[in-house]
Amino acid sequence: MTALHLRGVFLPEEQERDAWVIDGRLTFERVAGAETICRRGWILPGFVDAHCHIGLSPAGHEPDPAGQARQAEANRDAGALLLRDAGSPVDNSSVQQRDDLPRLVRAGRHIARPHRYIRHLGVEVEPDQLVAEVERQAKRGDGWVKLAADWIDRSSGERSDLAPVWPDDVLAAAVSRAHELGTRVAAHVFGEAALPGLINAGLDSIEHGTGLTEDLLDEVARRGIAVVPTLINIDTFDEIAVRGEARYPVYSAHMRSLLATSRQRIRAAYEAGVPIYTGTDAGGSLEHGRIRDEITALVGAGIPQREVIAQASWRAREWLGFRGLVEGAEADLVVYDADPTVELSTLFDPRLVLLRGLLSTSIG
Ligand SMILES: [Zn+2]
Repeated sequence: MTALHLRGVFLPEEQERDAWVIDGRLTFERVAGAETICRRGWILPGFVDAHCHIGLSPAGHEPDPAGQARQAEANRDAGALLLRDAGSPVDNSSVQQRDDLPRLVRAGRHIARPHRYIRHLGVEVEPDQLVAEVERQAKRGDGWVKLAADWIDRSSGERSDLAPVWPDDVLAAAVSRAHELGTRVAAHVFGEAALPGLINAGLDSIEHGTGLTEDLLDEVARRGIAVVPTLINIDTFDEIAVRGEARYPVYSAHMRSLLATSRQRIRAAYEAGVPIYTGTDAGGSLEHGRIRDEITALVGAGIPQREVIAQASWRAREWLGFRGLVEGAEADLVVYDADPTVELSTLFDPRLVLLRGLLSTSIG
């Protein structure tokens, strides 16, 4: 296999240097006879879509490996070279067999409660079975499990609203069991009420987190709990509100108010020191390959662009157990013509994408 050579400004160090790629790895020591593929540009280890669903699309379940590969390609071509799957109803491990597709960290199937989540998506169990189901899904995933932790409780008629799905003591037992197994816990949560129980249980990542009020932020930051806001998905709350309006007016109004405060709340979380990662929630109501739109939305929420890029790239990789562009690391990288920490538009026109040391042919 021919060695490759590239030169450019490496992030996050912002240092212009030469690097070589051989056998899928990066080295800063000269390799003779290498083919130069890049002489200038800004180089970063690609982005991380920290919340997407390979095997799901707006049209429904996608059990076909060819369809799953197309979803993964859309993410790769957008610059997302590492994906955290936040729960999939179908086996999506085929993506992990292909060298040309992004690396995938899976969370097994969503764990939900009957009548308290999207139908046919999760494994549905009652609270007395939650710990046992966490054990099962921990075996299916790559170090993560996913809980549906709040949802509309339709038992209250027109007064129905978002409500916690699991009793606090059950959550605490489930998170503690996951941690004993070396598995981290991500939880879907839109509203305010489920958060104190989740935070006290010591979960690892809050997905969406639109209910994160100021009084909780110090504790979330102290515990190092991450938030993956999925702002471009939160922007669909208005449609959810319209659909629920006639039968569930309280719930509808709540969803609208969560959308209205979403930017202010995520900025407050950032200012309190909460780690915020970038996830699109692609596969639910959105198509795959939207990482750049989520980055744009986070910048639009008032988080400094350099911070957004860092959290969306090298910091999220580290969070998931992957390295950045250091000696001997996986040669996963994207080259841009301009500095993405300054110029967002450059993200939409990557010059080249390298994954496992292989040049992606669909770019350039
Ligand atoms: Zn999701």
